[in-house]
Amino acid sequence: MKFLVIGGNAAGMSAASRVKRKSPDTEVVVLEQTHEVSYGACGLPYYVAGLNNNLDLMRIRKADQFLANGVDLRLGCDVTDADFTAKTVSYTDENGEAHVESYDKLLIATGSSPKVPPIPGIRQKNIFPLKTLDQAAALKLALESNPKSVVIVGGGYIGLELAEACILQKVPEIHIVEALDRLLNVFDPEFSEMVKTELEKNGVHIHLGERVMSFEGEDDKVTAVKTDKDCYAADVVILSIGVSPNTRFLSEGIEKLGNGALVTDASMKTSVPDVYAAGDCASVWSKLLDKPMYIALGTNANKQGRLAGDAVLGKNVRFARALGTSMLRVMGMEFAKTGLGEQECKANGIDYKTTTVESRSHARYYPDPVTLTVKLTYRAADKVLLGAQIAGAKEAAVRIDTFACAVDQGMTTDELGFLDLGYAPPFASVWDAIAIAANASK
Ligand SMILES: Cc1cc2nc3c(=O)[nH]c(=O)nc-3n(C[C@H](O)[C@H](O)[C@H](O)COP(=O)(O)OP(=O)(O)OC[C@H]3O[C@@H](n4cnc5c(N)ncnc54)[C@H](O)[C@@H]3O)c2cc1C
Repeated sequence: MKFLVIGGNAAGMSAASRVKRKSPDTEVVVLEQTHEVSYGACGLPYYVAGLNNNLDLMRIRKADQFLANGVDLRLGCDVTDADFTAKTVSYTDENGEAHVESYDKLLIATGSSPKVPPIPGIRQKNIFPLKTLDQAAALKLALESNPKSVVIVGGGYIGLELAEACILQKVPEIHIVEALDRLLNVFDPEFSEMVKTELEKNGVHIHLGERVMSFEGEDDKVTAVKTDKDCYAADVVILSIGVSPNTRFLSEGIEKLGNGALVTDASMKTSVPDVYAAGDCASVWSKLLDKPMYIALGTNANKQGRLAGDAVLGKNVRFARALGTSMLRVMGMEFAKTGLGEQECKANGIDYKTTTVESRSHARYYPDPVTLTVKLTYRAADKVLLGAQIAGAKEAAVRIDTFACAVDQGMTTDELGFLDLGYAPPFASVWDAIAIAANASK
C-alpha cells in the first residue's frame, strides 16, 4: 500500500509516523511545500516575546529523523492539484520541475495560513502575519529594533498573545484594532471585558469596532494604520485576523465547508473514497453539536493525524469529541474555555442556563490565593454541562480540563459538584472552584 501525505506539520507527520510505526512495509511519502517539518507554531509567540531565544526548540522532530524511520519525506514540494479518479497528485519540486505522484490512500494535511486581506498598502515591509518559523524570526527582529509603535490588527488568541509579546519586548506604544465590538470573541462578553482591562492595565490601547482601511507607508515601509475612525502611527504591524484552510489547490469534486475546510466524518474520511483530511485544513467533529465544525487547534490536528494514520491502515477509528477546549495567558491573567458558551448555545437554539461564580484558587490561609471567575453553561431541562469558561490570575487555565472531562462524559452539574476532586491547602479549597460553580447551578 502506498500512503501519500500532503503537508508535513502536526497532522501530516503524526499520520506518517503512525503508519510507518504500525506498518513498516507501507510506503509512506510526504510532500511538504517548505523546508520545515513538525514544528510547534503554538510556541512562536513566546519566542517573539523573548521568553525563549532558541528558535530551534520549536522544531519538535527534524526531517532526518523521519527519513531515518523510513518516511519518504520530500521538502520544497508544492502540491498544485489532485486527480481523485486517477488517484494522483501533481506537484512542483524545489527546482520547479513538475511531477505526478500516485497513491492508494491520500491524507490532505495542508493546514491553514493567516488571512492577509487585500487592504491597500498591505504588501509593505514590517507588516507581519505569524505562522511559520521565518515569520517569527522576522517579527522578533522587528520588535527588537526598538519600534516606537506597534499596531496589532485582530484581537483573537494570536493577536492577544502577541500583544503580551510586545509588552514583554517593551514596545512603548501598542494598539489593538478589532473590527468586532469586543476582544477574544470565542469567549462570552464578560471574559472579553476582563482581557481588555488586563491589557489596558499594561498600557495597551484597544480600539473596538474599527476597520482598517489602509496601511500608510514611506519607502515601501509601513508608517501608520488608517481605520474608518482614526489613524495610528506604526513602525510594525501584526496581522492576526484569523486563518484560512489551505485547500484552494483542490478544484471541484471534494466537499468543503463555507470557509474552504474539507468536510470529514469522525474517521477523517472526506467525501472522496480513499482520501482523508486532518488538522487545520479540515473540519473536526463537534461532540456537542454533532456535526463537522472548523476548530483550528493543534490539539485537534495531532489527534486527527494520528487517528487518520490508524484509519488508512483499516482500523475502525472515531474522533467525534472535539469541544474546542483552549487556553491562553495575557500578562497577569489566564483564560480558558471548553464546550459551548452562551453565544453558541443561542446560535444553535439550545435551551440553556448559566451560572457564574467567583471563588478562591486555594485555601484562604495558604499564601496568595487569587479569585477565579467560573461561568458554566448547562442544559435547562436536565442540567447536563455544555461548557465552562474560567479566568484568574493563576491556577485557572488547567482547571478547564476537569470541565472538559465532565462535558465529554455528559455529566450533570450535580454530578460534577460531588466529583471526588483532590484537596490540600496549597492547591485548592475543600470545595474547589469547580465544585462551587457546579453546585451553584440551579
Ligand atoms: C502563533 C500560533 C499560536 C498557536 N497556539 C496554539 C495553542 O496554544 N494551542 C493550540 O491548540 N493550537 C495553537 N495554534 C494552532 C496550531 O498551531 C495549528 O492548529 C496546527 O499547527 C495545525 O497543524 P496542521 O498540521 O493541521 O497544519 P499546519 O501547521 O498549517 O501545517 C500544514 C503544512 O502543510 C504544508 N502545505 C500547505 N499547502 C501545501 C501544498 N499545497 N503542498 C505541500 N505542502 C503544503 C505547509 O507548508 C505546512 O507545513 C497556534 C497557531 C499559531 C500560528
